Amino acid sequence: MIVQPCNAFSENTVLLPDGEGGLVVIDPGYSSPEEWNTLDTLLAAEGLRPTAVLLTHAHLDHVMGCHGMERRWGLRPRMDVLDLDTYAMAPPAAALYGVSLDPLPQPLEAGFSEGEELAFGKLKLTVRHAPGHAPGHVVFIDDEHQRVIGGDVLFQGSIGRTDLPGGDPGVLRKSIEEVLYTLPDHYTVVPGHGPTTTIGAERAANPFVNAAGSGMLQQG
Ligand SMILES: [Zn+2]
Repeated sequence: MIVQPCNAFSENTVLLPDGEGGLVVIDPGYSSPEEWNTLDTLLAAEGLRPTAVLLTHAHLDHVMGCHGMERRWGLRPRMDVLDLDTYAMAPPAAALYGVSLDPLPQPLEAGFSEGEELAFGKLKLTVRHAPGHAPGHVVFIDDEHQRVIGGDVLFQGSIGRTDLPGGDPGVLRKSIEEVLYTLPDHYTVVPGHGPTTTIGAERAANPFVNAAGSGMLQQG
């Protein structure tokens, strides 16, 4: 696994080799020639080729590389159908933030069903819905490597914001408690921003949602 921070929002683009020369790209945030060069260098060094693009959710910072992924490798992004509206809102959001965004490709028709098992070469990912930050947010659980690609649900010492369209703090709390905190403590969380953490570390001490129920999102 390679985590490549991209764009003005320091979004983590997550690259998962499939064990057969393919590379699954989750949340491509590429926004500059330098960031694409970093990817190209890695592909050449490891002998890899992108074979799929998946989105945890479709906020602007997670889709900035979608245009390039389609142009260069013919890959259209797969996201949950409940986040298609979020995807459609990315261009106006880019205008609002004053950042450039190349035209977005049509998303793949297939969404995700709860608990669906995705297979790419030797890589297997289980999809779980985890709304609250975005309505169609999903996380990808990689049991073989004991990690979860979590997008903007749970961060090291923090959580995803809930003030954007479709966000809901109560729903986010439930997603963290029921989807993430039911995973084993030693599982790595690869978030959409910032450093990796573990389920156990956040369960123990996350100030917003924790096992003791004393988090800021758990009051009242
Ligand atoms: Zn987001």
